[in-house]
Parts: sequence; C-alpha cells; structure tokens
Amino acid sequence: MATLVERLEASGLRLTAQRRAIAEALDGTDRHVTADDLLPQARARIPEIGRATVYKALAAFVATGQVGEFALPGEPVRYDPNAGVAHHHAVCDACGAVIDVPIGDDLTHLAPPGFVAHSGDLVLHGRCAACAGQTS
Ligand SMILES: [Zn+2]
Ligand SMILES: [Zn+2]
Repeated sequence: MATLVERLEASGLRLTAQRRAIAEALDGTDRHVTADDLLPQARARIPEIGRATVYKALAAFVATGQVGEFALPGEPVRYDPNAGVAHHHAVCDACGAVIDVPIGDDLTHLAPPGFVAHSGDLVLHGRCAACAGQTS
C-alpha cells in the first residue's frame, strides 16, 4: 500500500517539508491520534513545527479524503491515516486502543429490511486482545 505521503501527493496536495514530516508521523494502520499526540512526533522530525501548523496540515489532509476524523463522545478528535480504505472501528474500553475493522462500506446486510443505507460508522466496544488476555 502507498504511504500516506504518496497518497496525499497523488490527491494533488502540495507538501511542504513540514507537512511531509507531519504526514510521516501520522502514517500507519490502527493509528488514531490527536493533534496533541502528533505534535511531539512531528517535532522529532522538524523541531520548529508549531501546533497551528499541525492543525492546518491535518485540516488539509482531511480535505483530500485520505485522512479521516474519528471521535468518541467527550473526547478530542483523532486523526486516522487509513481513511482511503473504508473501515470501521473497534474500541478497547480498558486501554483506549482504537483498532481498524476493514469490513467495507456495504452495510446493507446490517440494515433493517427495506432500509437503504448510504453510509455508516460502526463502533464496536469491548476489550482488545491484550486486555482480554489479562485475568485481573
Ligand atoms: Zn485494550
Ligand atoms: Zn481507523
């Protein structure tokens, strides 16, 4: 699969050195990070990156459709570098991990009879494999 930098460039977005560093810090699967999570990781690449630059870059990335926004009620927005691939999410209620569930956009089989589903966001709640394996 192409890297996030490659996908953003293919979508026509011009990447400055700072935006490239932010995209590299964000890239990966099963990553759902807040802008505040991302800032130190981007600064590890280019120390002078500011918070406003991170927010503006993320907004530009979201506008391309290659980066998604995901938020649980009452929590800050997390950014999802895997938005080019339709997927849903499983949330671990113990450790907070958010894991991609790539079942696609076809929710027809989940919808009530006769219901025409256009889109949907499915969030599974439970325990991730690591947390489910703990006895305490
Ligand atoms: Zn967990
Ligand atoms: Zn995701």
